[in-house]
Amino acid sequence: MNLISHYISGAEHRPSSTRTAPVYDPALGTESGRVALADETDIKAAIDSAKLAYPAWRDSSLAKRQQIIFKFRELLNERKPELAAIITAEHGKVLSDALGEITRGQEVVEFACGMPHLLKGEYSENASTNVDVYSTKQPLGVVGIISPFNFPAMVPMWFFPIAIAAGNTVILKPSEKDPSAALWMAKLWTEAGLPAGVFNVLQGDKESVDGLINSDDVAAISFVGSTPIAKYIYENCAKKGKRVQALGGAKNHMLVLPDADLDLVADSAINAGFGSAGERCMAISVVVAVEPVADEMIEKIVSRISQIKVGDGRRACDMGPLVTKEHRDKVAGYIEIAEADGAKVVVDGRSVVPDGDKNGFWLGPTLLDQVPTSSKAYQDEIFGPVLSVIRVSSFEEGLELINGGIYGNGTAVFTNDGGAARRFQNEVEAGMIGVNVPIPVPVAYFSFGGWKNSLFGDSRAHGEEGFRFFTRTKVITSRWLDPSHGGVNLGFPQN
Ligand code: NAD
Repeated sequence: MNLISHYISGAEHRPSSTRTAPVYDPALGTESGRVALADETDIKAAIDSAKLAYPAWRDSSLAKRQQIIFKFRELLNERKPELAAIITAEHGKVLSDALGEITRGQEVVEFACGMPHLLKGEYSENASTNVDVYSTKQPLGVVGIISPFNFPAMVPMWFFPIAIAAGNTVILKPSEKDPSAALWMAKLWTEAGLPAGVFNVLQGDKESVDGLINSDDVAAISFVGSTPIAKYIYENCAKKGKRVQALGGAKNHMLVLPDADLDLVADSAINAGFGSAGERCMAISVVVAVEPVADEMIEKIVSRISQIKVGDGRRACDMGPLVTKEHRDKVAGYIEIAEADGAKVVVDGRSVVPDGDKNGFWLGPTLLDQVPTSSKAYQDEIFGPVLSVIRVSSFEEGLELINGGIYGNGTAVFTNDGGAARRFQNEVEAGMIGVNVPIPVPVAYFSFGGWKNSLFGDSRAHGEEGFRFFTRTKVITSRWLDPSHGGVNLGFPQN
């Protein structure tokens, strides 16, 4: 049996727990291995390893840390096809998309290479006579990263390069659905020269997560996943006074104004709706068409859907399977719900003929029109290749619909009217906005994060906020006496 285990103290770790969960090859529909689910002893081993490594890593020079991160970047860049193959085999996304995810993660590694600049403090000379005031940014200690299945490499890379650059030690708890990418990255860190224990991987489920959030030895948690779990993580960390950022789910809308370029709209809706089989937190799941464009737009989308090749991500395909059978069935269930609630199924992905094994977890691109906003198919995050169209009569109606939702991750407007785009970016309630760009994921030196139920906590991922999250500031007020010091004075200094 292929047992996917933990990585602790610079080596693969033999689990104490005998609990395991299946890991599938979604394009074949077969079990490819079993992932260890940590127990208390495994959790303690990971925390002890990170704790032990912390003092020396905290005190290592910025130059030394930078060299190791550079080396990690070089190795990752050279060997990313290996990692992409692992991602495709466990997640199902096509190889080119797996490579794309690694490249976006690598951008954060590259950003973290500039860490000496980002860790600089401030200095004020003579704040009072002969008194200098300065600040330093210090690491937090052991930090936990808990990641979702849909980006097994990129989402952990939103956090760990920065956490490590800032001098913290890390425990990554990847999704149990695709756990091997994390192990591969852990080995790469060791090859890059990272001291043992600075980066650990703890496999598991709720028990591992609770072990991390409840431990007094874990100083902070970065979480990405569905909204109910994000809320749970945020509330429980906050109760313990632990620093936390918890990124949750999404339901991203794309507003199409009557003057938009409908070919660009159709291409964008397809790419953003069906890329990675819709299993992206920045996927577009609702196209809000301001009439009279809906019919023409739908026609263009339908003709493009007919060209999408669904199949095994290792073959020349555009879209792979869904991650598990259970998830595939849940997503297909939403098509039934929409239909029962009065939506029109324009393209039905349930009848897809894939270029792949018949037992794979297949669901083709699906297009729904006139989805009622009262339907669960509109209200819930579906997280699959199901694109809904809603027709509205004005910009205002579209904006109101978007702002009425409980999520606020990303959104986009398609128009050639600069004034309308400007008003949209100003009034829409979401954290990441695209103007004629369907998936506005910020580059690494900006920060990633949504509003409302898409982010709990006040720090987003990467960019300067990432460094702020993984450090704490000290302000030092210092005076070196010279012969003219003024003697006893019980008041605040006046000059
Ligand atoms: P999930 O919430 O099921 O799992 C996320 C992590 O939480 C995993 O590591 C999992 O093991 C753990 N977990 C699951 N159940 C738990 C429980 N009861 N208690 C404690 N921990 C638990 O999410 P998923 O299905 O892996 O990922 C898809 C979700 O992630 C979608 O909702 C998507 O929108 C969201 N996501 C959000 C972003 C973002 O940036 N906002 C990015 C990627 C994914």
